[in-house]
Amino acid sequence: MADEQREREAIVAASRRLVALGLNRGASGNISVRFGDGLLVTPSGVPPDRLEAGAIVAMGRDGTWSGPLKPSSEWRIHRDILGARPEIGAVVHAHPPYATAFAICGQDIPAVHYMIALAGGPSVRCAPYATFGTAELSAAALAALEARTCCLLANHGTIATGQNLDGAMHLAVELEELCRQYAIALTIRTPNILPDDEITRNVALFRGYGPRSTDAG
Ligand SMILES: [Zn+2]
Repeated sequence: MADEQREREAIVAASRRLVALGLNRGASGNISVRFGDGLLVTPSGVPPDRLEAGAIVAMGRDGTWSGPLKPSSEWRIHRDILGARPEIGAVVHAHPPYATAFAICGQDIPAVHYMIALAGGPSVRCAPYATFGTAELSAAALAALEARTCCLLANHGTIATGQNLDGAMHLAVELEELCRQYAIALTIRTPNILPDDEITRNVALFRGYGPRSTDAG
């Protein structure tokens, strides 16, 4: 149980960090971590500054849960990604301004910077719009995440995954930074796009890249 308490506290800290970094505001966004046969997921409608470890919801693979609070309205996305992708240990969903602006335009992010290799390929796909909390949105997110570690959700926000919570948080920050750079570049002129084989080379170089190995240029 000590492990579970540590995971709950890490989720609370990460939720607050998303707000501190400007990636979320209010009670938007949610986080999950694989735990046992199921997952731990943030509750619905609790702002991070009022969130406590005891409020994190323990959920089974089948979506059943118990606890004083309801799970995040986006629990299906978390449950379905962790169920379909065994290499993923944590999922961070946010509404960061630059990435969400591209999602509002329904636009994939092309290879405008080599750091897109963190996404696992030469693009970050934008999943088509579906109502929040629905199985349709979860299915659209899973399709957009095919061979990728992150995606946009049209007119909504972002999803970043990782082997663990540190990795998913790292990617959530890098994705927003990439979108910020792309948005600025678009105001200057038409951005240059890197070729697919260069991104493939970078994906190979980035294997193992993460918060504890940030030596990539
Ligand atoms: Zn959302």
